[in-house]
Amino acid sequence: MISCGKEAKKSSRIQQNVSPLFNSQVLTVKVFYEEDAQPYTDNILTVKIWDLLQINLDALFKGRTKRPQVIIPKTLPEMTKTISFHRDLWTVEDVLNISKTYPEVKKTGTETFKIFFVKGYSKESPTIIGFHINDSNIMVIFKDVIKNSGNGNHISKYLEQATLVHEMGHALGLVNNGLPMVTPHHDQAHGAHCLRQDCVMYYSNEGASSMMSFAKDALAKGSLVMFEEQCLSDARNYKN
Ligand SMILES: [Zn+2]
Ligand SMILES: [Zn+2]
Repeated sequence: MISCGKEAKKSSRIQQNVSPLFNSQVLTVKVFYEEDAQPYTDNILTVKIWDLLQINLDALFKGRTKRPQVIIPKTLPEMTKTISFHRDLWTVEDVLNISKTYPEVKKTGTETFKIFFVKGYSKESPTIIGFHINDSNIMVIFKDVIKNSGNGNHISKYLEQATLVHEMGHALGLVNNGLPMVTPHHDQAHGAHCLRQDCVMYYSNEGASSMMSFAKDALAKGSLVMFEEQCLSDARNYKN
């Protein structure tokens, strides 16, 4: 199930421009949700669930001399409820269109990511959990796919966070998607993905069943950081 790094323009391979992201003082994640498609915001075992995304994004910048402060909403009141979109199937253009209706005020030194939780499915396949739109800071999560994977249990909550980590990984230039590699680990046959199966950036982790088994394994191991070392190393060693 290869659907990440969707390109609005299919003819060209547009990569993320990661320099402004890695140079910013603040990276802000904004979350928008449609009614009945809201993210899980309760705890998973002893972990505050949105701390998983925080821990993983912070891990990418660990050890860098210049580290952006990553600001992530952790509770529903910190997120924005949208209008109802009444859409069953979504294309890249549809997501870009709704994103335009929620514009960001540009602040110096701050880069903003927008994540939309919507009802309905990707037009490409009903098993796609979400995608990042290349050359943008925009992502979409198909909440119905997560709900169908076992509504509300620990694994589906972890699955949701793992999907966010995967899509934010693309938005930050992984794998070889604007962020140069320290060691080769790019699964070229499958887009901007990692060759390692135990890494959250592995290609099939974008589909529900594979991500589900990744989530089960990770929960069993008690892992909080979902990137393996090659992906971490690319981010930590990036030269602006
Ligand atoms: Zn992907
Ligand atoms: Zn990796």
